[in-house]
Amino acid sequence: MNIYYEQPPYRPPTEGYSLLVRATRNCSWNKCEFCCMYQGAKLEIRPVEDVKNDIRAMKMVADEMKDLALKNGYGDRIGMVARANGIHWLNDGVVKHAFIADSNSVIMKSDDLAEIIRFLYETFPTLERVTSYARAKTLVKKSMEDLQLLREAGLNRLHVGLETGDEELLTIIQKGATPDEMILGGQKALQAGFELSEYVMPGLGGQEKWEQHARGTARVLNEINPHFIRLRTLFAVPGTPLAARYERGEFSQQTIEGLLKEVRLMIEELTVSADFVVSDHIANRYMWGVDGKPSLDKKRMLKAVDSLIAAARESHEKYPVYSGL
Ligand code: SF4
Repeated sequence: MNIYYEQPPYRPPTEGYSLLVRATRNCSWNKCEFCCMYQGAKLEIRPVEDVKNDIRAMKMVADEMKDLALKNGYGDRIGMVARANGIHWLNDGVVKHAFIADSNSVIMKSDDLAEIIRFLYETFPTLERVTSYARAKTLVKKSMEDLQLLREAGLNRLHVGLETGDEELLTIIQKGATPDEMILGGQKALQAGFELSEYVMPGLGGQEKWEQHARGTARVLNEINPHFIRLRTLFAVPGTPLAARYERGEFSQQTIEGLLKEVRLMIEELTVSADFVVSDHIANRYMWGVDGKPSLDKKRMLKAVDSLIAAARESHEKYPVYSGL
């Protein structure tokens, strides 16, 4: 049996130790102007049997790692042996988490995706959580029955790129969804029983539109009330349409202080309840410590942002225009 299995190029930071299952390749939309991830590549939906063969191959690798550890007297440290061999998804000695890639796996036929998810749980009975990226627009188009089918198969959490809740900015960045569609997609995911992560992009409005970005984003998040709000600071990546807009002088890059003021305003306006704001990506290096639960913790979070604003004023550090992050 072949032990080759395909791995996706991207996954959320929270899935660093998850089994990565590539059910689709690339992005079904591929037009967001800041995004460099799948440029020029077309969406491919992989045959269910190919994906199952990947899962079978990963099971063989997991079994081999366990044998190797046992034979060498490391039976109590299977995770360590696996990590030393580059198998990070066996970090706990067993498979607990899986992430289904690429950027919008729920675009697959729901029956096919549900079959893959069920096969994952059969193959790795220790599995506790399966997650996926999802576009809000795809969630809007899926029927509630389809979403519930996926939820019942064992898909627990969806990661959705909101980026901004401001209508004008959503159009400018070509996100392909309106604020109302963002709200409806998120609400449907919650209604179907998923845990929901919404990703927000500080800096997206530049210096001119930061206030509408912060207020619009808070408004949409308040309507959705997701479990997690994850921050991903914007950088213009060379080769993207956003970088070209910057080069033409049509996009005014935020300052670090401006970025923080924007995040402060968004947090101030959040009235979400079942939430947690997480700044868990290296792109957020100007806002470490901003994490918290606004419904319980807003004062402390705002104080943390104020300290960062004061430090930014003193440091005179510049927010770099380009980054490959
Ligand atoms: S939907 Fe996601 S992966 Fe696709 S272009 Fe937009 S940001 Fe990139």
